[in-house]
Amino acid sequence: MSQQDMKIAIVGLGGMGDWHRNLIESIDGLTLAGIYDIKEERQEYAREKNVKVYDSFEELLGDNSVELCLIATPNDLHKPLAIAAMKAGKNVVSEKPVTLSSADLQEMIEASKETGMLFTVHQNRRWDEDFLTMKKIYKESRLGEVFRIESRVHGSRGIPGDWRQEKEHGGGMVLDWGVHLLDQILLMMEGVKLKKVYTTMTYVTNQLVDDGFTASLLFENGTEVIVEVGTSNFVNLPRWYMLGSNGTAIIEDWSLKGEIVSAKGQNEKDVVPVITAAGLTKTMAPRREDTIAKAELPVVKSDIRDFYRNVMKTIRGEEEIIVKLPEVARVMRLMEALFESAEKKQVIDFE
Ligand code: NAD
Repeated sequence: MSQQDMKIAIVGLGGMGDWHRNLIESIDGLTLAGIYDIKEERQEYAREKNVKVYDSFEELLGDNSVELCLIATPNDLHKPLAIAAMKAGKNVVSEKPVTLSSADLQEMIEASKETGMLFTVHQNRRWDEDFLTMKKIYKESRLGEVFRIESRVHGSRGIPGDWRQEKEHGGGMVLDWGVHLLDQILLMMEGVKLKKVYTTMTYVTNQLVDDGFTASLLFENGTEVIVEVGTSNFVNLPRWYMLGSNGTAIIEDWSLKGEIVSAKGQNEKDVVPVITAAGLTKTMAPRREDTIAKAELPVVKSDIRDFYRNVMKTIRGEEEIIVKLPEVARVMRLMEALFESAEKKQVIDFE
């Protein structure tokens, strides 16, 4: 730690707050000043790690050495805590989802404008290598004209049995995982209007909040995107599946196992039909290996510490913030469109 280090305080040292604590330790120029958590047990845990524990949120806000505040509490508390921190002269990083509605987000944005404090959101999955790799394939038109993208995360354990099951705390999978996947898709399709949204939601393990959803997003250029989150899936579908006029890209799982497959040479002749118990098909017959080209994924590497490096440089006036509030607001509006579509069982016009 040096005199010039930027000091950050963490509000809410749960699972994710602790992940940040670890990350912060590995970032040059950033030092953890201390934490505040309402739970005695989490305060004790912090002391065991030799981390200063503030007695109250007010005490934390009163520490003039703290320039930056991370809010990592349950979702419904992001808004009041972030606004109070900005009003106390702190720059703020809020965990995702930034809050529960566009109206609430507007209040947070106003607080940032009034106080001049930086306010941004930890959309860390922008640095996921599976996403960055698929974005590169899309942007470089490696599949020709892309007409369909499918982005999925599947688990089989339902929603974790905490505040994530309660609506008033901002529970449910749209706000939990949807916020990441939708943010990724809007970045990938940057500059293209999203025209229509249709969504269905599941309530398999929980009646109060969605434990999964499938959203169909139709963009102005004709690309259809499926975004799906499931928590009752004992067999997973691929994390990414992208179809273009010249080929298909797939990423199977978190390990980035996948490939790009495209047609090679002339159109295949003399297709051998597949014969099933009840018929035959040439159309759906698998390709012969000598008629396709298989390429490795152009894997894009990332360093999640760049999130905080960008926040620090933005505060110092040296860079532009990566996670911008208008982007956060667009994702929030999109999540609201998903809820509206599922409730009305209708297609919603978006932009
Ligand atoms: P958690 O329940 O493990 O932790 C929340 C902590 O906040 C608890 O320790 C709780 O005691 C504390 N808390 C509650 N009210 C407080 C208050 N008023 N003041 C101070 N502390 C308070 O939850 P979590 O999994 O750590 O999630 C926290 C946030 O992080 C959520 O917004 C969640 O969506 C987000 N999150 C983000 C990612 C990501 O990849 N970006 C992953 C997991 C969670």
